[in-house]
Amino acid sequence: MTDKSPKVGFISLGCPKALVDSENILTQLRAEGYDLVADYDSADIVVVNTCGFIDDAIAESLDAIGEALNENGKVIVTGCLGAKGDIVQQQFPEVLAITGPHAQQDVMHAIHSHLPRPHDPFSDLVPKQGIKLTPQHYAYLKISEGCNHHCTFCIIPDLRGGLVSRPVTKVMQEAENLVNAGVKELLVISQDTSAYGVDVKYKNDFWRGQPIKTRMTELTTALVDFGIWIRLHYVYPYPHVDEVIPLMAEKKILPYLDIPFQHASQSVLKAMKRPANSENVLKRIEKWRDICPDITLRSTFIVGFPGETEQDFNLLVDFIDEAQLDRVGCFAYSEVEGARSNQLPDHVDEETKQDRLERFMTRQAVISADKLKQKVGTTLSVLVDGIEEDGTVIARSYADAPEIDGLVIVQPTEKANVGEFLDVTIINSDEHDLYAEISIGRH
Ligand code: SF4
Repeated sequence: MTDKSPKVGFISLGCPKALVDSENILTQLRAEGYDLVADYDSADIVVVNTCGFIDDAIAESLDAIGEALNENGKVIVTGCLGAKGDIVQQQFPEVLAITGPHAQQDVMHAIHSHLPRPHDPFSDLVPKQGIKLTPQHYAYLKISEGCNHHCTFCIIPDLRGGLVSRPVTKVMQEAENLVNAGVKELLVISQDTSAYGVDVKYKNDFWRGQPIKTRMTELTTALVDFGIWIRLHYVYPYPHVDEVIPLMAEKKILPYLDIPFQHASQSVLKAMKRPANSENVLKRIEKWRDICPDITLRSTFIVGFPGETEQDFNLLVDFIDEAQLDRVGCFAYSEVEGARSNQLPDHVDEETKQDRLERFMTRQAVISADKLKQKVGTTLSVLVDGIEEDGTVIARSYADAPEIDGLVIVQPTEKANVGEFLDVTIINSDEHDLYAEISIGRH
């Protein structure tokens, strides 16, 4: 790349789905011969990929746009905030272009008009796996876009449209490219992973001459052949989720399920338009643990949803007591512009919401700490994410997804390399993390 190449600065905010959008845009930019730079001064233009989900994310996105305008002046905005009416336009009329999420071609079009692309595309400089924002040893694999559900608190289906599944062939090809590039862990993501293929009626596609159904279980089974860690995220609790538990028990995919339950009270779940039978959920969890005792369950919940009574909240606390989930995220309900839940009666006052959030998290912290304590004395295989200056190893086990879960912090050792596996013995734990020492060596 010569110094004459047009230079693009990129700010990527938001969830892993937005991150994948950023990676796709960066990959195309690089393929077309644009240079990617990390500072405002050398950038000819700056793209800000925004998040518009909750108030804090909106504020962070608006700050980032403001900063890019101040520091550089030529700014293109994409992502979820771009799809939310004219918030960006009103606050920053000087931005050059605004698009919604998953709008790679629109972003490229805006870049082409404000910073014309060079004549000679350096496509051979782009690695097959594309440009990744994650470390070299793990990557997100997006299998579909959009969602067919209508959870009343969520505007994602309005922003990103209905479910569109990527063809199995494309997903498998991308997975293979990533594995060949050294990726050891694939994090399967989408808005609704278990709905994969619903839009194409689970039709057969082909990979290496073999038919594979466009369906979560079949795709996951095919991914097993790559022999790396496969982790499933955003799995909506459909009945057929049960089908992947045996794959976890056989250690073919990681025994880790990220399955948002959102609440446990029937009436709140009904108001959310979510599947509403927590007794069934408890029975399913029990069954999953019978089949795969090591399974790590991560879930998210919302407290203070409109109409949530103290009794509903207590039901939720009883549920988490009984479900003994390993990892839990919880949010106090906040209004999202355009969400149908805004129109529901009996909104919970802010103080009660915060109080319930605190009570919920305090209860769950005890559960999480207990669950981690049970691992003390066991041996785990961990993937090394980083090594600190004093040699302390920052790693994760099968039970820890990057960014959202805890860590396994291993005593300094010279045997560790970033992106490699290590066998460790757990010697201590706290609410979030495990502490370990190296055991029998690498594998
Ligand atoms: S399933 Fe997820 S993405 Fe789809 S509407 Fe519900 S919360 Fe939103």
